Amino acid sequence: MDQEFLIRKIEKYADEKGVPIMEKDGMEFLTEFIKLNKVKNILEIGSAIGYSAINMALAGEDVMVTTIERDKDRYIEAVKNVKKLGLDSRITLILADALSFNTSEEYDLIFIDAAKSQYIKFFNKFKENLKPKGYIVTDNINFHGLTNSDKSKMSRNLRQLITKLERYINFLKDNDEFKTRFFEVGDGVAISRRKKK
Ligand code: SAH
Ligand code: MG
Repeated sequence: MDQEFLIRKIEKYADEKGVPIMEKDGMEFLTEFIKLNKVKNILEIGSAIGYSAINMALAGEDVMVTTIERDKDRYIEAVKNVKKLGLDSRITLILADALSFNTSEEYDLIFIDAAKSQYIKFFNKFKENLKPKGYIVTDNINFHGLTNSDKSKMSRNLRQLITKLERYINFLKDNDEFKTRFFEVGDGVAISRRKKK
């Protein structure tokens, strides 16, 4: 079976099972970014069923992806999908909570796409694994257009989540160490890079 077909099947599965994979235009934006900037080594926080890891790996023949997922069922599905695509040699899947997973590897790009309430923690932890000129990319900055919108009609849980995401956006805007650009693509994508000293 060809790649395109297999990828469409993963999209269909995600849609049916309600797995929040990256939106198509956001995904394309990210793979173009990887190509343009010759990104080779990627660390992803939040694999889900491997959709974004697979797309990133397909951005270039020498792109290597390490990706962390804490949900066992999703991890198993990701392992299957990566195998089907024949990408086992370039995608390493790790079943773990990212906040308790430690590595001394350094990456060209770190893609944060896990629990939205923990974004500041992910950022601060994994910036230590970023090469000096590397990029931290964050997905779901807009959260379906809910960040910076009226919270009065939201459920308590949603309101807390949105408040945390807004706190993350401000954390990026006010960051002394990193400069961030925000892109209105997909569900909102941020790209951060260390400021020149
Ligand atoms: N990047 C994927 C989508 C990820 S959805 C894609 O676009 O294809 C977010 C995933 O992050 C969920 O599957 C969730 O289980 C996982 N997750 C949330 N918090 C996590 C954590 N602390 N460590 C590891 N995985 C986490
Ligand atoms: Mg996402």
